Amino acid sequence: MRKKIVAGNWKMFNNLNESVTLISELKQELANTEVNCKVVICPPFTSLETATTLLKDSVVEVGAQNMFYEDNGAYTAEISAGMLLSVGCKYVILGHSERRTIFGENDELINKKIKKALASGLIPIFCIGETLAEREGGVTEKVIETQVKKGLEGISEEDFKKIVIAYEPVWAIGTGKTATPAQAQEVHAYIRGLLTSLYSKEAADGTVIQYGGSVKPENAKELLSQADIDGALVGGACLKAKSFTEIIKCA
Ligand code: PEP
Repeated sequence: MRKKIVAGNWKMFNNLNESVTLISELKQELANTEVNCKVVICPPFTSLETATTLLKDSVVEVGAQNMFYEDNGAYTAEISAGMLLSVGCKYVILGHSERRTIFGENDELINKKIKKALASGLIPIFCIGETLAEREGGVTEKVIETQVKKGLEGISEEDFKKIVIAYEPVWAIGTGKTATPAQAQEVHAYIRGLLTSLYSKEAADGTVIQYGGSVKPENAKELLSQADIDGALVGGACLKAKSFTEIIKCA
């Protein structure tokens, strides 16, 4: 039985003071909420330590939005897995489409990062998804297949079982356009089939596959009730404690 995970990707929003405010509002909202899923927030690096401290006795866990695959060295501005662990992070988002498109991250780099996260004990939230042109060109499955195969290359079944996958159609991220529940379910089922062929039915059935792309309180319930949608990776709507909590309630 897969436990749903609702994760909030704060992106480059909230300085330290704003982070403290949002976390305390979220704690207040959740105090009156029955939480039946895992909840993760991924603030910017500068707020991670504060977040883990403030959320010490809370159901909310903390993740980072990126990391580099080396332990340390002359890699100006990069952050290692060990550094994330040292401030109490449990998860790390890897391969987000904004990293792929704006910062030129490719499948090989993402694969190295996933391997490092796993070797270090961080849970990767591995993002995949097609662009609008790819969807309209009828190559969604091909794109997903390549991202999944290359991203998971050389990863054993034992390690694979620790990974969370986030299907995020690029055309739905931050655009207000959401995949319909049927469109999302179709791709999620395809991903699970692909994972079955790459690993095993047991491993694929146990994998949490989140949906991401303009998830909000109004559409979360229907998306999250699809058979293969096991949670949400939320951008815009996680920046308000109330709307993030409404999505958590739908899970
Ligand atoms: C995201 O950043 O992963 C995301 C899904 O953003 P939004 O919910 O704003 O589309």
